[in-house]
Amino acid sequence: MARMTTPSPERRKSRAVRVGTVTVGGGRPVSVQSMTNTPTAAVAATVGQIHRLAEAGCQIVRVAVPDDDAAAALAEIKSEIALPLVADIHFRSDLALKAIAAGVDKVRLNPGNIRRREDVEAVVRAAGHAGIPIRIGVNSGSVRARTGEARAAEARVDLVELMVARTLEYVAWFESLDFREIVLSLKASSAMSTMAAYRQIAGRCDYPLHLGVTAAGPAEEGVIKSAVAIGGLLAEGIGDTIRVSLTGDPVAEVHVGRQILEAAGLREPAGVQILSCPTCGRCQVDLAALVEEARRRLGKMDVSLKVAVMGCVVNGPGEAAEADVGVAMAGETGMLFAGGELLRKVPAEQVIDALIDEVRRRSATRT
Ligand code: SF4
Repeated sequence: MARMTTPSPERRKSRAVRVGTVTVGGGRPVSVQSMTNTPTAAVAATVGQIHRLAEAGCQIVRVAVPDDDAAAALAEIKSEIALPLVADIHFRSDLALKAIAAGVDKVRLNPGNIRRREDVEAVVRAAGHAGIPIRIGVNSGSVRARTGEARAAEARVDLVELMVARTLEYVAWFESLDFREIVLSLKASSAMSTMAAYRQIAGRCDYPLHLGVTAAGPAEEGVIKSAVAIGGLLAEGIGDTIRVSLTGDPVAEVHVGRQILEAAGLREPAGVQILSCPTCGRCQVDLAALVEEARRRLGKMDVSLKVAVMGCVVNGPGEAAEADVGVAMAGETGMLFAGGELLRKVPAEQVIDALIDEVRRRSATRT
């Protein structure tokens, strides 16, 4: 039986920017980032959280640098972690200069919220001397002028257009200083605005893009918004690194980010991936119990395989044959498939044992 291959998007061509040991853009794999939520000056707590993020698969980590104590902690944090470290700076350029002196691997900056041009330029020059990139991060919440005539004028401009125009202004400014180690982000709290902003900027320059939705919300809403916006852009070939923003433990952001990459066909699923149907009135077995048992017994296997557990003969044989190993229930009997072929029929009570034996057999041939 002919089996389906997963189409992968043609990716936008972007220039390569090195962030410590990770290259962002230039056709490299899309990396997953996160940000700590401990007080940065609490070094032990921050380092502990970074280690948990790294174990979960985070590849670049960002910490907030809101004050001198946080800036003073950066060198020690950096010495205790393996991940590239990004300093997140708002308002105070002196903190960016201290972060660069402490050896961070990248600075994230919104030039619009540093008052004096010469202060931004001092940071750009310091990053250039240190050989590290700057992410220009323009967010929907801070892009509009807050006071004066500019506020009235900008109120009439579409938010996405404003974000794109502002980002391009900053890019031209940095380029005029002969600085091109730039990563861009244009995050809005709406998934659709985020997508529109990234689509526009993607066609206007070749700098690598850091994807994310700002203030995405608590877990459920945030996961859905991120899956739509980040996943949708990746499916269009746009994006070089991602950060899912969720209120709560940042480790969850990494799990979600990795799953978005898997769903977008940009990363091999880790471990066994179980596909199962929702069941309906045609299903004559307790499929939820079978799926749960399969999940429990297969969950710890370190092999990348798709395993299908399907409820009846309507869609079951097709999906089971598409998976590496699958079973389609037909009443009290299970039809066991592997590699696209029907192997045999098995009674319902033996179906998970048979499925697992077959998964083991196939994983043994892969190692
Ligand atoms: Fe219903 Fe069968 Fe489809 Fe499962 S595979 S949802 S039981 S029709």
